[in-house]
Amino acid sequence: MITSSEYRKRLSKMRRNVYMNGQLIDRDDPRMEGAVNIFAKTYDMITDPELKEYEDVLTATSHLTGEKINRFCHIHRSVADLLAKQRMTRLTCHQVGGCIARCMGIDSTNANAVVSYEADQKYGTEYYKRFEKWLRDFQENDRTACCAQTDVKGNRPARPHEQLDPDLYVHVVETKSDGIVIRGAKVHNSDAPVVEWLNVIPTRRLTKEEGEWAVSCAVPADAEGVKLIVSAASYPAELGAPGPYGSADSLTVFDNVFVPWENVFLNGEYELGGRLALLFALYHRHSYTGCKPAMTDVIMGATALMAEVNGIERKPHVSEKLAEMICTSELCYGTGVAAGINGEKSGSGTYIPDIVYCNVSRKHAGENIYHEFDILADIAGGMPATLPRLGDWENPETRPYLEKYMMRNPEVPIEDVHRAFRYVQGMSCSEIAGVMQYAGVHGGGSPRMEQIAIMGSYDMEKTKNIAKRLAGIPVKEKYSFDRLGETPEEL
Ligand SMILES: Cc1cc2nc3c(=O)[nH]c(=O)nc-3n(C[C@H](O)[C@H](O)[C@H](O)COP(=O)(O)OP(=O)(O)OC[C@H]3O[C@@H](n4cnc5c(N)ncnc54)[C@H](O)[C@@H]3O)c2cc1C
Repeated sequence: MITSSEYRKRLSKMRRNVYMNGQLIDRDDPRMEGAVNIFAKTYDMITDPELKEYEDVLTATSHLTGEKINRFCHIHRSVADLLAKQRMTRLTCHQVGGCIARCMGIDSTNANAVVSYEADQKYGTEYYKRFEKWLRDFQENDRTACCAQTDVKGNRPARPHEQLDPDLYVHVVETKSDGIVIRGAKVHNSDAPVVEWLNVIPTRRLTKEEGEWAVSCAVPADAEGVKLIVSAASYPAELGAPGPYGSADSLTVFDNVFVPWENVFLNGEYELGGRLALLFALYHRHSYTGCKPAMTDVIMGATALMAEVNGIERKPHVSEKLAEMICTSELCYGTGVAAGINGEKSGSGTYIPDIVYCNVSRKHAGENIYHEFDILADIAGGMPATLPRLGDWENPETRPYLEKYMMRNPEVPIEDVHRAFRYVQGMSCSEIAGVMQYAGVHGGGSPRMEQIAIMGSYDMEKTKNIAKRLAGIPVKEKYSFDRLGETPEEL
């Protein structure tokens, strides 16, 4: 495992290909700092004495080398691994007050571990062998990756091969003796400018006309032809709060990018392209069963703090709203646990979480995110929106007025009142707050996509048969109901 300073050093050596607001910038540009700090934290946490008791959650044993590795580089080899990944996600998101970001890399890596193996079994290819070689380096060097899945997609109702411009979905434009050339653009790629690898995978199910779009490959984030056009936002650094943490999302252009065969894990197998797209979404929604409860914990904690500052902690409406938030976070987390326990071993030995549990958790969480901010705003009052600026707290002429007139609950010192409101302003009334709200709805797929996944995997006929039996309508099939689950062997 490496340290956060080694991670930062690696970033500083990468080719300049990050564009922001009209400029070509370095990866250590101050506007990247929030995103870099989050990845740095995933290295620092391993040696943080305060988190010592979580060592087994934060680290894992590589099935390739037997070495101890950061769990963000691990392939899930058991139900216990799925549960640990979920726990790690909630724990790490708490440390940074929001998205931990490194999950996109590991979720796409696990999806590749399953599908490259299945391709080899079906077509006699050697994708899995190549993937394992890439994975060995990824684990041994504690590397970072993002997932470049979402294509820009052009005209939404049109399929990839129906678009006026075929580049609106990333596709293979040339096959050479030593590799392939890809062209197109991916969008909303979280933290692409602060990772070493882009895991490029398809967005959607593909048809037999769409083999050229069925491509999975690992591309260095600074490869020739890759351009990252970035939008970044950070939590305000005022008051010396930890971090600052933030995000940096990229419109990632692949302008005829050459990918050597050794980094190509799928190329043309259209039906497996679709499977890979859905499988990454599944792993990522399983991550959401850890990060979304963490996000609710963060918003709920802020709500409880606001209630304390305002002196209304024991009022019945506060208790009712906090209980509602607990229901959201623990329902989503509990469902994620169920997804892990009901996980299945795939051909490569990689475990896959249960699809229905992952999707209902993700859908429920996504649909609640704005409501949670609504509760916070209700209990906080209007101050996070209009709080006097930090300079006014530091100005000896205005500070006495602020101390006198901002005073609320006599049990809370005025400095803490100020800190609490400044923090809540940052996390609920800022650019990054808006990004996190949209991420809560769309990250890992829109609610509609989750509905499609749920309905596609749920056997409604079996449910209908329950009603038929109870209504006295004859049913031919013997009773069975697959949502009862099974006790996993390892429990
Ligand atoms: C903050 C943030 C971070 C993200 N991080 C990543 C990342 O790291 N990597 C990555 O690959 N992606 C990432 N995403 C992308 C995310 O998965 C997508 O935003 C999501 O899948 C929705 O796609 P879209 O944004 O293109 O919206 P659209 O697909 O344009 O959706 C807009 C609306 O149109 C509807 N719609 C779309 N197509 C159709 C159709 N054919 N028929 C009917 N209705 C349709 C949708 O249901 C939705 O209601 C991120 C998104 C956000 C907001």
